[in-house]
Amino acid sequence: MTLDLLLTNAALVLPDVGVVPGAVGVRDGRIAALLEPGTTLPARETVDCAGRWVMPGLVDPHVHFGFGSPETDFLTEARSAALGGVTTVLSFHRSADPREALPAVRDRAETQSCIDFGFHFGITHRLHVETLVEASHALGVTSYKIYLMYKGQAGLSKGFTEIDDGLLFAAMQQARRVPGAVLGVHCENVEVIPVLRDPLRRAGRDDLAAWDDQSPDFLEAENVHRVCYFAAKTGCPVNIVHLSSREALEEVRRHRRDHRADISVETCPHFLTMTRDDPSGPLAKVNPPLRQAADVDALWEGVRDGTVTTIGTDHVGRKRETKTALWSATNGFPGLATMLPSLIDEGVHKRGVPIERIAALTSATPARLYGLRGKGQLAVGYDADLVVVDPDLTRTVDPATLESYADYSPLEGRSLTGWPVMTVLRGMTIARDGRVTDSAREHPRGRYLARL
Ligand SMILES: [Zn+2]
Repeated sequence: MTLDLLLTNAALVLPDVGVVPGAVGVRDGRIAALLEPGTTLPARETVDCAGRWVMPGLVDPHVHFGFGSPETDFLTEARSAALGGVTTVLSFHRSADPREALPAVRDRAETQSCIDFGFHFGITHRLHVETLVEASHALGVTSYKIYLMYKGQAGLSKGFTEIDDGLLFAAMQQARRVPGAVLGVHCENVEVIPVLRDPLRRAGRDDLAAWDDQSPDFLEAENVHRVCYFAAKTGCPVNIVHLSSREALEEVRRHRRDHRADISVETCPHFLTMTRDDPSGPLAKVNPPLRQAADVDALWEGVRDGTVTTIGTDHVGRKRETKTALWSATNGFPGLATMLPSLIDEGVHKRGVPIERIAALTSATPARLYGLRGKGQLAVGYDADLVVVDPDLTRTVDPATLESYADYSPLEGRSLTGWPVMTVLRGMTIARDGRVTDSAREHPRGRYLARL
């Protein structure tokens, strides 16, 4: 048997298992063999991975493609993902009726994306709930997000008039009818925010910490309680997306213990590496807000003990010019290219978190949670989605090299240790030594991942 690709002399990172010396053989886009270190087998290309980790390509279940440049996000942001070792993304699709709008988005993305992708449905009105089961089967989608931060007055500015607890509850009733479904919820009590915000603005606060002060941890925890409680009553599996605080994490622990609700928890690289005192100011404005050092510590504890189940970037690629002053700045920032380096730098190097734990939260677990068959493991028969990492490579984050439509990074200027040096999608090398390969650039081969 001649292999297409052999990654030899590597340290193989097996999610939640450990790091073992070995080699990976790839053929026809799949992992064909896991071999003893130093094995030589005939292969069209052999890469010596001495001193490097080989991990499953990352599965980022939380990106917002189409919110930077709707026409080109699947081109540029997928390239940025490839540089970061991310080989699969799930992007949030919001439209009046996905049954009509999503096919065109999907078809264009297939011509643009150099990584594999799927979608979640954003649920913003009754029609989405009424047609949820049908649309899920028609489009191969098993995951959804409801935005409690767009209730009432806050939703009106986005054109949403139907988001309330009734919509949340009805979405849970419908989602549990879809096999393998999970309902993501953005948890922030947006009705209380103005009460806290207005005095801050009157006092002239415009520092990043004011963004946290207007929507503090307990407004997240209060919503988390409501969602977990309804999840237990309806039997709907829920996912608390981008959980940011110790207080909210405690609420999840309590509900798991007392009510046996099926609750997953996603946090983000920025909640594990940055605080509300970050010098990047409005560049780091995001919902939920960056919190305090004690929250960062608590989330890492949650990563270690299993309370946190997945990590997603919440990547959105808008321009720096939209991020100049705190109160007017857009929410969110890019994160795909720096996700793995920032988690290795902070988690592995500074806190001693095993890389196999980080691999579980960034590949195996999201693949399992979202029903992405063939993704997220170093195992024979799985897709050859691989990232080779130099754990000792130090680079300074420079947005000009990260391929995103966004021309900034909240981490710009930071020195991080532990970077991808090669990314492989189904056996095809899509990034190498910090550059997207010509073939991935000219012939993007990303596929739509229909679930169900
Ligand atoms: Zn959100």
